Amino acid sequence: MLRKNRLFTPGPTPLLPAAQAAMASFTAHHRTADFRALFQRVLADMKEFIGTQNDVLVLSCSGTGVMEASVSNLTSPGDKVLVLTAGKFGERWTGLANAFGCKADVLSAPYGETFSLNDIRAKITPAVRAVFVQATESSTGARHDVQGIAKIVRGSGDDTLLVVDAITGLGTTHLDVDGWGVDVIVGGSQKALMMPPGLAYCAVSERAWRRMETTTSPRYYFDLRKERKSAAKGESAYTPATSLFAALGAALDFVRGMGNGDLAKGREALVENAELCAEMTRAGAQAVGLKLYAAAPAAALTAICSPDGIDSGKIVKEFRESFDAVVANGQGEMKGQIFRIAHIGYYDYLDTIGILGALEQVLVRCTGKAVPYGAAVRAAQEAYARGPSGKRYLVGA
Ligand SMILES: *Cc1c(COP(=O)(O)O)cnc(C)c1O
Repeated sequence: MLRKNRLFTPGPTPLLPAAQAAMASFTAHHRTADFRALFQRVLADMKEFIGTQNDVLVLSCSGTGVMEASVSNLTSPGDKVLVLTAGKFGERWTGLANAFGCKADVLSAPYGETFSLNDIRAKITPAVRAVFVQATESSTGARHDVQGIAKIVRGSGDDTLLVVDAITGLGTTHLDVDGWGVDVIVGGSQKALMMPPGLAYCAVSERAWRRMETTTSPRYYFDLRKERKSAAKGESAYTPATSLFAALGAALDFVRGMGNGDLAKGREALVENAELCAEMTRAGAQAVGLKLYAAAPAAALTAICSPDGIDSGKIVKEFRESFDAVVANGQGEMKGQIFRIAHIGYYDYLDTIGILGALEQVLVRCTGKAVPYGAAVRAAQEAYARGPSGKRYLVGA
């Protein structure tokens, strides 16, 4: 059969056609009034997209660039920091903290799980200069309780900053950045914003800006203070990825359209969309006897355990060969054990029903066993008909 290439990976994600068109036709030089107007509009809209009054910066780099910027701008060598890690992206925080000479206290939860808030509480003192965590751990599909963690950090006073990698959390998870007191929240263009990789962004609290006046870690391209000064004048400190800004403008317009002209409502609608795609997928996978990998599954993606005795690479390969659908294998130690289906950004009902129909075929081919055709699709239909349950899979006490 004819096959259409479709990404079901937790980044890069499917592209919004309007964003692609906007990029393709964009030619403005970055030191012009036209570009400044776009840049300023995008920065203002990004506050609505994130849901914050804090300053937002958009940098030309992948998500890890802004993760690095949060470490280099907010810490000094020798600073005590707490890293909460339960997967490959959590481990990236540890690597970054070590690279900048922080004394990293690492609190880990097993892959697929999330943290006990009591364990976190026991680690937080005003001597901890910053706490680093993911909102959703894309390597395991787990959701972390950012609200609960923020409550503990804020309860400890203003000396401890909370930095959240919400690169797959933004646009898939309800996050009250200002209400909870998140100091830096990080996102990336190739996730819920439905555009190619190349831009990463963050919202920075006043507490965090004050911290930057005294920190001494080396930084140059990623000096957020310099970027903030330029942004106030409608510019980026260095040459921005101009055509990606055009794509971002189009993506934000699309999200605004989802909210009937209200961008904040559009963001909520995008989150509900991911929640519903995720519920359909979880129901479908379980209906054909598959187990979910994460105890508290995120709406960003669903990590599914491979059936006993089957390498998940075989499933990933079959999806690609039969249907040109790209699902993700596990990373690191999880490779061969799980496969991951994303719901971040530009996914709809038909994508979700389609991938579950394909899953039934893939299972037959990979296991050689009969699968009751329609079982996954039927469970997804029922989940769709029920609508988002609003169930928030939070664990940890
Ligand atoms: C995609 C992703 C990143 C960023 O990775 P880059 O390749 O640098 O864009 C970071 N954290 C999480 C949780 C992610 O899903």
